[in-house]
Amino acid sequence: MYFRQILRTQIVGTGTVQLPRVHRVCRAQRALCTKRDEVKLAEEASKKYGSLAPTIFSKVIDKSIAADIIYEDEKCVAFRDINPQAPVHFLVIPRVPIPRISQAKDDDADLLGHLVVVAKNMAQKESLSEGYRMVINDGKHGSQSVYHLHIHVLGGRQMKWPPG
Ligand code: AMP
Repeated sequence: MYFRQILRTQIVGTGTVQLPRVHRVCRAQRALCTKRDEVKLAEEASKKYGSLAPTIFSKVIDKSIAADIIYEDEKCVAFRDINPQAPVHFLVIPRVPIPRISQAKDDDADLLGHLVVVAKNMAQKESLSEGYRMVINDGKHGSQSVYHLHIHVLGGRQMKWPPG
């Protein structure tokens, strides 16, 4: 119950999220998010961001489809891209199904910062010491294909600029 309360607090943006306590709770319980939590998150998100069609990434989060998950915590999941564009290519997604970065709210700042920090930490774990690229595609002109916000992390080869 306490855990769900924390998740809800993240969505509605009220109150203070006591992250260290959440981490302890998650580690102790080993159950980061149940399917019921995900349903609740989706309901709350649809109120905040407008009605949402569930995407394939919801199934990655609730583990109803297989994915190569390399990290997860109470706020996000990181997994390898199914169609990698570089020797290392993984995605970091929030558990809250924000459709796209342009629909994120100002009070999502902590969550967005967390996603970037996790992306950076995982890039380090993946030994991308020569550098890497972080990308967020948004909407039609950004060539976004899955409407659940995600950060791409690509590395292990020389990137070019400008992107196509
Ligand atoms: P975007 O075009 O920015 O929306 O990127 C969506 C990314 O999700 C693409 O790179 C896809 O290869 C990737 N993708 C789609 N479905 C899956 C999946 N089931 N598991 C892992 N990656 C996926």
